[in-house]
Order: sequence, then C-alpha cells, then structure tokens
Amino acid sequence: MRMEEKGAENGVAAMAACYQGFDPAEYLQSNYTPPRADFERKDSILSWELACLHRAFTEGDVSGELLVDIGSGPTLYQVMSGCEVFNKVFLTDFLEVNRQELRSWLQDEGGCSLDWTPFLQHVCKLEGRRPSAWTEKAARLRQVIVDIVPIDVNRPQPLAHDALPSAGADCLVSCFCLESASPDLAAFTRALGHIGRLLRPGGHLLLIGTLGMSYYMAGDGVKIPTVPVNEAQVCASLKESGYTLIRLEVYTVPQDMNVGTDDAYGVFFVKAMKE
Ligand code: SAH
Repeated sequence: MRMEEKGAENGVAAMAACYQGFDPAEYLQSNYTPPRADFERKDSILSWELACLHRAFTEGDVSGELLVDIGSGPTLYQVMSGCEVFNKVFLTDFLEVNRQELRSWLQDEGGCSLDWTPFLQHVCKLEGRRPSAWTEKAARLRQVIVDIVPIDVNRPQPLAHDALPSAGADCLVSCFCLESASPDLAAFTRALGHIGRLLRPGGHLLLIGTLGMSYYMAGDGVKIPTVPVNEAQVCASLKESGYTLIRLEVYTVPQDMNVGTDDAYGVFFVKAMKE
C-alpha cells in the first residue's frame, strides 16, 4: 500500500473512533433548540436552512421517486420539505445510536430526544399551510420513509450493494455530514464522489455544510475534529466529483448563534446536479 493511502486510511479510522462517543441527545440539544432553532427569528440557523430546502424542493426541477438523505444523524428537519415531493425517502447514518433515534420517531412510541413539532409547523408555514397541518406532515413523513440504513461515505460504495433500487436515487440531500466525516479536503472530495454513485445522472444534490469548522462537540467531552472548508473549496470539490453547481448560498453565523459547541463561521447551501 502506498504511504498516502495508508495515511488516508488512518485518518478515516481516527474519525470513526471519535464517533463512538457521539451522544444524539446532546447533539440535538446544542444544535436543534433556540437560539439556533428559533423560528421567531428569520436569521436563526434553522430558519435559514429550512427556507433553503423549501425553495430547492419547490422550484420544480427536483423531482422523481426516491430521495436519499446522506448521514441523517438523529435529525429529521432535512426531509420535511422533500417528503412532499418524493414518494420514497431513505434515511442513512454511520451510527446505530442515530438510526435508533430515527426509528423511535418513526414508530411514534415516545422516547424521542427531541420534539420535532416546531420544525414541522414551521415547514407547513413555508408551504402556505396552517401550522396545525403539522400532524398531516408528520403522517406523510412516516409514510414515505421506507428505510433507515447504515452508511459510510468514506467507502467507494457507501451503502450495502442492494440497499437502493438499481436506477439510483433521483435526489440526495446531505446536511453537515461530509465535512464531519472527512479527515481532510481530499477525503471530503472523495466522499462527494462516493455518494454521487448513488445518484442517477441528471439527479440533484442538495448539500448543506459548515464553513471554516475545525471541530464540534457531540457530547460531554466528545470533541470531533472536522475539515474546515470555504466556499471556493466546496465549489472545486463538486466540480472534481462530477457535479454541476446550480446555486451556492452562504449564511454567516451571527455572534449570538455561537453557542460554544463548534467554531464554524458560516453555513453553505448548495444545489447541484450530477453530470
Ligand atoms: N445530518 C444531521 C447530522 C449531522 S452530524 C444534521 O443535519 O444535523 C454528522 C453525522 O455524520 C453524524 O450523524 C455521524 O454519525 C455521521 N457520520 C460520521 N462518519 C460518517 C461516515 N463515515 N459516513 C457517513 N456518515 C458519517
């Protein structure tokens, strides 16, 4: 094995080791409650993200049968707009604790670490529906999520070989996964290529990620090192991995959204198409 391959393998193994301490409840508490998820504020991180996703899924060009969310973690907000457009949604994550958290919500038997109601209500509002329609959206989401499966974006074949229909996904959504799963920029670019193999030609990628983040906290004393990327690097990586950029939007984290659990200066949203 060449030296650089060995180095890349070590980097990936070190990241996987860090994730063994990931605490879904702590992660949700830091990132998916106010101030970050304050829907009274248009400039909160989650208001911005949900608006980006709403727009992308309602512009008309993103459509088909199958939507796959890459590295879902313990969260559901990222498919709350897409579930109205696609009849089948696959959720995926590297960790069993996260897949278990998602299954708890799907089965609706209590035991969830976060109440997703304000998110569902907010997305209903974006869609011009009354907030009370959130129960219908929750039912729709539970109906279209067909599976929750393991994934590793560092592998050329990130899912089990028979996990998806052979035609591939019509759309991928992925939020805060690739920069959090990659030891360096080369691995980030490779991961973009790996997930692209799950997507049909002409299919869309909706990618959300952090800018300039070198670590985040995922539990008591659990510090996960991440690869800091900037807008230019994201664009170059997309191009190198066979995507055509449609739109890049940038959010700058306001001082009071900095809750001390990471060092990101911003968030990017990308809409791209696989060539
Ligand atoms: N999408 C969620 C979670 C992001 S946190 C959100 O928007 O908040 C980063 C996620 O990447 C975690 O759920 C972690 O389990 C996952 N992850 C870590 N290593 C990974 C890998 N090699 N392949 C895929 N996902 C990975």
